[in-house]
Amino acid sequence: MLQFDHVSKRYPDGTLAVDDLHLEVEEGELVTLVGPSGCGKTTTMRLVNRLEEPTSGRILLGGEDIASQDAVRLRRRIGYVIQQVGLFPHRTVLDNAAAVPLLLGRRKAEARRRAAELLELVGLDPAVYGGRYPDQLSGGQRQRVGVARALAADPPVLLMDEPFGAVDPVVRERLQNEFLRLQAEMRKTVLFVTHDVEEAVRLGDRMAVFGQGRVEQFDSPAAVLGNP
Ligand code: ADP
Ligand code: ADP
Repeated sequence: MLQFDHVSKRYPDGTLAVDDLHLEVEEGELVTLVGPSGCGKTTTMRLVNRLEEPTSGRILLGGEDIASQDAVRLRRRIGYVIQQVGLFPHRTVLDNAAAVPLLLGRRKAEARRRAAELLELVGLDPAVYGGRYPDQLSGGQRQRVGVARALAADPPVLLMDEPFGAVDPVVRERLQNEFLRLQAEMRKTVLFVTHDVEEAVRLGDRMAVFGQGRVEQFDSPAAVLGNP
């Protein structure tokens, strides 16, 4: 589904952020990218939605080189959730969740109906939270809105970059459980960045263990932990 074919990324200042990345993610698989800060996880994600371009190598999505695809159309097939989701502060939760359907040309009533479904899906009752503004939500609730928005276009691929990194451990565990439940239904192809090994083990079908731009291990959590 998603292949990295000897991908490297060197930034203009000379930093080699990704060094000969070669791996293949299956359709419907959740792969966690785990490793210390600065080892190239975020750069890898940004290469997939073409916020960065590789210096060498290719990334294939469904067998096609993403470099030859229109970036805007590509991003419609890829949901992206980051640690501090940027919600529109002056729009309600419902209208934030409806932003993507509106961009895709849905009519307002239909977009809001879809937004309400998405909020329900991520565990936010639209009747309670739909009319609130982002600053009236907890951190965990804001991340849920971010997940809802990322799912709006029903993209086959989800990129999640420390989506639960900024909330406290109890809330994080709840979000992880909810996400696992959701993923069991959705079966998206997911790349999930975390620096937390426990989170990577818990969520990943497989783990890509990064060290200094390179993937040092790519295997099931049990195999990575050494008890297959
Ligand atoms: P991680 O997500 O694992 O923390 P990153 O992909 O953000 O790692 O960064 C990998 C390396 O690339 C780090 O050394 C970082 O300082 C460097 N880096 C990231 N973005 C840029 C940039 N825009 N320009 C130069 N170096 C960068
Ligand atoms: P979550 O598990 O979703 O992160 P929290 O435990 O952080 O929730 O918050 C518990 C409750 O407090 C939630 O129902 C939320 O609506 C409410 N809450 C948290 N922060 C705020 C805020 N800044 N303004 C209004 N309500 C808040």
